[in-house]
Amino acid sequence: MTATTYWLEHAWLGDRVEPGVTVDVRDGRIHALTLDTPAPPPGAEVLRGLTIPGLANAHSHAFHRALRGTVQTGSGTFWTWREVMYAVADRLTPDTYHRLARAVYAEMALAGITCVGEFHYVHHAPGGTPYADPNAMGEALIAAAADAGIRITLLDTAYLSSGFGQPPTTHQLRFSDGTAEAWAERCSVLKEQNHARIGAAIHSVRAVPASQLATVAGWAQERRAPLHVHLSEQTAENDACRDMHGCTPTQLLADHGVLGPLTTGVHNTHLTDEDIYLIGSTCTGTCMCPTTERDLADGIGPAVALQRAGSSLCLGSDSHAVIDLLEEARAMELDERLRTRTRGHWTAAELLYAATDAGHAALGWTDAGSIEPGALADLTTIALDSVRTAGPLPRLGAETAVFAATAADVRHTIVAGRHVVRDGAHTLVPDAPQALAQAVAVLRA
Ligand SMILES: [Zn+2]
Repeated sequence: MTATTYWLEHAWLGDRVEPGVTVDVRDGRIHALTLDTPAPPPGAEVLRGLTIPGLANAHSHAFHRALRGTVQTGSGTFWTWREVMYAVADRLTPDTYHRLARAVYAEMALAGITCVGEFHYVHHAPGGTPYADPNAMGEALIAAAADAGIRITLLDTAYLSSGFGQPPTTHQLRFSDGTAEAWAERCSVLKEQNHARIGAAIHSVRAVPASQLATVAGWAQERRAPLHVHLSEQTAENDACRDMHGCTPTQLLADHGVLGPLTTGVHNTHLTDEDIYLIGSTCTGTCMCPTTERDLADGIGPAVALQRAGSSLCLGSDSHAVIDLLEEARAMELDERLRTRTRGHWTAAELLYAATDAGHAALGWTDAGSIEPGALADLTTIALDSVRTAGPLPRLGAETAVFAATAADVRHTIVAGRHVVRDGAHTLVPDAPQALAQAVAVLRA
């Protein structure tokens, strides 16, 4: 048995900030909490600042990190951005994918992220030939998460067609298993590990023919595994869906049994009132990715209405234009303020809930995302004495740091009771910037 004691200067316990909390960790889980501990007990590791549950990044495409900066010149749309993204995807191998993802996940750990949902669709060699191990690419991501010290839910993604009823393009051949049955057969071989769970994803209604949606949904439901889907990112895909099927993407997914409490829609952006009702009434979750949605000029999803209808909200950094879950959290509220010209749609507590508890639940980690006995000992400590966070008295709502703190204020990240980031330095990937630079250079040479 391994045991560690942490002393939290301030702890966010879901409904309040408590000063002086001692956390006993045994075998990676929180064994006991002791409140009202004004000073650290002897031998305890001291976490100064505000400690919250580890952040969950519910939507990631690790390789998009290689595009950062390079797609910020000139004009264009989502569709022109996608061409650049495909050029990078063409160059990935299991080895280069592993190197890049290890560095990206290290960046996530440094940003306080303890669990990532990797929406993974680059399955095969260019041209679509399977690797000797048909899951070599997915395994590379699982290994990368272990190397960077964070948890992963590999959302293995079915991607079978280009547009509605069109065969995959040359770029997309390596994404495709041919049929949903072949996709299911390959995914069934993937093994869960202590740090890794396996879920499913439908890339979009563009990329999985309607007749094959139920196969993917059934695979996930049989295993009680999370199922994610890019739902309605662009109005062009809504128009194409109406032309082909006479209904919205949401309606099509509902008709084929895709919606439900284990399903999360990503980019629930361009919705009708009926779509919002379908998502909410089936308890389908919503993953908002505000920094990507604004970067790609997608639009602002109706998150308030979705939540009111019954959809749980979580957050993701998606294309990794930036990796900062605190920014994603406040952006959800701030985008809504711009749209409505009113303030206060979510409290800081509600934003933190989306970034922690709800995100973990959407990724199948129902035992993470809160600081309580029995939960996985995943913790993130935000400095309250940086230039961005100094000033307010912690007892007067330190959780409002979510409106000012950035990833740069993350001081410690603890996963399963182990320090992955200590005093702002990654303990397993000591030079993460260098690792990122080298991994990106290989892909963009
Ligand atoms: Zn995405």
